[in-house]
Amino acid sequence: MFAEILAIGDELTSGQRLDTNTQWLSQQLEQLGIEVRFHTTIGDDLASNVQAFRIALSRAALVIATGGLGPTDDDLTRQALAEATGTELKLHGESLEHIERRFSMRGRQMPPKNQIQAMFPQGSRVIPNPNGTAPGIDLDCSIDGHASRFIALPGVPAEMKEMWQATVVPSLAGQGTVKKIIRHHVVKCFGVGESHMEALLPDLIKRGREPRVGITVHQATISLRITATGANVRQCETAIDDTVQQIHAAVGDLVFGEGEDELQDVVVRQLHEQNKTLATVESSTAGMLAFWLGSVDEQRTALVAGSILPLGELVTQEQVKDAAATAREANKTDFALALGTFCDAESADEYAIALAGPDGVEAITSGLAGHPEIWGPRMAKQGLDLLRK
Ligand code: ATP
Ligand code: MG
Repeated sequence: MFAEILAIGDELTSGQRLDTNTQWLSQQLEQLGIEVRFHTTIGDDLASNVQAFRIALSRAALVIATGGLGPTDDDLTRQALAEATGTELKLHGESLEHIERRFSMRGRQMPPKNQIQAMFPQGSRVIPNPNGTAPGIDLDCSIDGHASRFIALPGVPAEMKEMWQATVVPSLAGQGTVKKIIRHHVVKCFGVGESHMEALLPDLIKRGREPRVGITVHQATISLRITATGANVRQCETAIDDTVQQIHAAVGDLVFGEGEDELQDVVVRQLHEQNKTLATVESSTAGMLAFWLGSVDEQRTALVAGSILPLGELVTQEQVKDAAATAREANKTDFALALGTFCDAESADEYAIALAGPDGVEAITSGLAGHPEIWGPRMAKQGLDLLRK
């Protein structure tokens, strides 16, 4: 049993609006233990909708569509569903009354166009829409002998969500489609590239493993996403704990956090716990490091000072180390971090990070590689990582 989600509207296919309904519905279905295998986005065109509906109904057991239930000529979900399933549209009296009532509540008469919103393919169950005009459609279908169920909800996210919770979720549970539950956990790492990380975790990354572990990388931070499937929450959590332990054993202190953690969260937490303070000096990252730390350390009890030097001010490792030592003394902090890029002709592709602390100054020098967009975040994160360790 798997599901397909359809998002309908020209505003989506043209890129004017981001399709958040599909994301939300995917998460909802996953929580119910229903696997989603296809996402399809369709413009407001009848033939394209009919085609996409037929494809979805012939491969998925459950099809959830949002959008196209409005009263205007570009809202075609009802017509397309009737055509795709070879049924007629029939007027549903109660829905018509509901729509007329909504207009009269605002002292208006229902425009004739809105009558279409009370039309349903024969055999449909009506999904009430308490806070909008367009009711949803719930229809059992059979395309080329393949039985499936089509659920159409309005595009307006708030209406869609309300109808989903109130009517669709209970009906899915009743159908017995809920078999397994899924739980996620994310382990955050820093310090190596994606492929290096993969090589460190050969058994965990293997396809078909349970729980599944996937690697994604964003601005040099690696997320190991664990997905556990089980009969109950406890089973999932036990499996996740076990996998987390295996990850720790395999990659050691490359792991810095979990879930939404970023390096600055972990560093600020550590500084608070140990009652320590930090100053930063940046000539290459325009205050990025200080901004990140300051966003987490809102009371500014850990980050005492953050200064920006002109680009090209810290161009040798010695200068970067001196800057860190000087900032630590000047601000009377426990630690100081300095970031510099070597902008001189000889070593234009290098940068250095220095950490001054009670035990002296340590520094790392590295090459600038990859897309320039990532240089700043990577430098800032390397500084944080040095401090964390
Ligand atoms: P209505 O009864 O309100 O007319 P509808 O089913 O016709 O509902 P649309 O007209 O397609 O829905 O969309 C209504 C609103 O919801 C629009 O602002 C649209 O941009 C937004 N919307 C539609 N689909 C999505 C989606 N997949 N994700 C986020 N917003 C969406
Ligand atoms: Mg629309």
